[in-house]
Amino acid sequence: MYFPSWLSQLYRGLSRPIRRTTQPIWGSLYRSLLQSSQRRIPEFSSFVVRTNTCGELRSSHLGQEVTLCGWIQYRRQNTFLVLRDFDGLVQVIIPQDESAASVKKILCEAPVESVVQVSGTVISRPAGQENPKMPTGEIEIKVKTAELLNACKKLPFEIKNFVKKTEALRLQYRYLDLRSFQMQYNLRLRSQMVMKMREYLCNLHGFVDIETPTLFKRTPGGAKEFLVPSREPGKFYSLPQSPQQFKQLLMVGGLDRYFQVARCYRDEGSRPDRQPEFTQIDIEMSFVDQTGIQSLIEGLLQYSWPNDKDPVVVPFPTMTFAEVLATYGTDKPDTRFGMKKYLKRKDIESIRNFAADHFNQEILPVFLNANRNWNSPVANFIMESQRLELIRLMETQEEDVVLLTAGEHNKACSLLGKLRLECADLLETRGVVLRDPTLFSFLWVVDFPLFLPKEENPRELESAHHPFTAPHPSDIHLLYTEPKKARSQHYDLVLNGNEIGGGSIRIHNAELQRYILATLLKEDVKMLSHLLQALDYGAPPHGGIALGLDRLICLVTGSPSIRDVIAFPKSFRGHDLMSNTPDSVPPEELKPYHIRVSKPTDSKAERAH
Ligand code: ASP
Repeated sequence: MYFPSWLSQLYRGLSRPIRRTTQPIWGSLYRSLLQSSQRRIPEFSSFVVRTNTCGELRSSHLGQEVTLCGWIQYRRQNTFLVLRDFDGLVQVIIPQDESAASVKKILCEAPVESVVQVSGTVISRPAGQENPKMPTGEIEIKVKTAELLNACKKLPFEIKNFVKKTEALRLQYRYLDLRSFQMQYNLRLRSQMVMKMREYLCNLHGFVDIETPTLFKRTPGGAKEFLVPSREPGKFYSLPQSPQQFKQLLMVGGLDRYFQVARCYRDEGSRPDRQPEFTQIDIEMSFVDQTGIQSLIEGLLQYSWPNDKDPVVVPFPTMTFAEVLATYGTDKPDTRFGMKKYLKRKDIESIRNFAADHFNQEILPVFLNANRNWNSPVANFIMESQRLELIRLMETQEEDVVLLTAGEHNKACSLLGKLRLECADLLETRGVVLRDPTLFSFLWVVDFPLFLPKEENPRELESAHHPFTAPHPSDIHLLYTEPKKARSQHYDLVLNGNEIGGGSIRIHNAELQRYILATLLKEDVKMLSHLLQALDYGAPPHGGIALGLDRLICLVTGSPSIRDVIAFPKSFRGHDLMSNTPDSVPPEELKPYHIRVSKPTDSKAERAH
């Protein structure tokens, strides 16, 4: 039985010495915060009936009288059982003598996963029976008393095999799934990282943790928001997709350096790795530029990074949006691998089919022979000088395979970007490791366009980030001539091909903000009159960023889904499978909200499924 001693490793981070980089504002408050964050391994058994955790016992505890509480992991031949808590496993010897018959009965009859309390002595295991794979493998507990705290019914699934049960079943019995080592590890690592982020932001850099409302009003542009009915007829709150407006208003209010572990809501329907409610590390600062925000985030990740992983190397590389698109065919490239090699001829057919099916586009392969000749249908249509120029541009070498396509720039780049990932999948099924799971490759992407053509009406514009993003200082004149060409001060942070954060320097000039909202984006400025008004009252220059906490923790823990790093996530279709949410409400409870539900007819409802 193997139960890694990960917890102490996780907590070791707490003892890291604090580097003082800023002057404390209130000395004594700062000192007491400092003391609390310098504590070493936390006291796990204070205030409770146990004396120790199951996982903490070692040879150094020999002879001690202990009381443990935990779940029965398994029992063998009615002679011993293994008890589990969040910290690990420990072996308990079931007494066989007549005088302890009642203890034996409890420990032998309690079903697996029942929760018990035992008291006894820590003894060493007989020579040769130590289990080096188990952190507590040198000792066992000689039990004197036992109490069944609560019995466990027959389980719907085995706790141990995290990956072997369907996700729907795991979500239905989430409270049992949370007992698994993996979920315990993920949630505790998440808590530790957030703790260190708080330390870094508040204690080292003077940020203020401020909660902002979740009952708010609609923000124009961006993701769909959830509505919350109010008792005023026809009036609704919206659940904010992010605290964007509030964090900017806090800057106007002189709060200067704000952060929040913020719950955000987006009613975006089912997407594999999104959640209708999710968490951001939300940050805003006054008097800052793009490089200031970037350095802050690099320091934040470096400081909060788990100690059992390779340290984060800063600064992170930066590429412009135009560069990443041309090089990797996406604005969130996986930079763990280059990917210009090792394709077999038979793979090319499947790649060409993929391009035709998904992008309606032709792909031309070029195989470079050992003699540097081109083996390709394009070979006949291309001049020698062009061929040499292409070889130079693509830095190709013998035996390389090049995929060529032609068409509208963004579309052609996106196709090649997708193919790069397809090829990586293909090669990894053959055992070529391209995306090392232990490698964390960060990248800043900057200089995004300020606007994109609206998907549903390409002649209109929408913000590439959000409407509060400031234009690039050298492109402001373009707003009045060719707004489509204007770049922005928006930056994204990418990790291993995933966008884990994004933010911008904001517009702090009311006139410019009004022009962008009303004239360029054709939004109803009345909705944002409070913000526009605030900008007119001496709003400082400011900027910020939000890190997607769920996605970040998912990548750090190597979890297959963000649902594995959230205690009670929603299903793919946005449901809570444990409590069956969303649920219907009786008509009389809807009355105060002036709402009447008109159910779709049966045939429509069926189609919707
Ligand atoms: N509010 C933005 C978002 O949620 C982040 C930012 O601009 O700070 O993506």
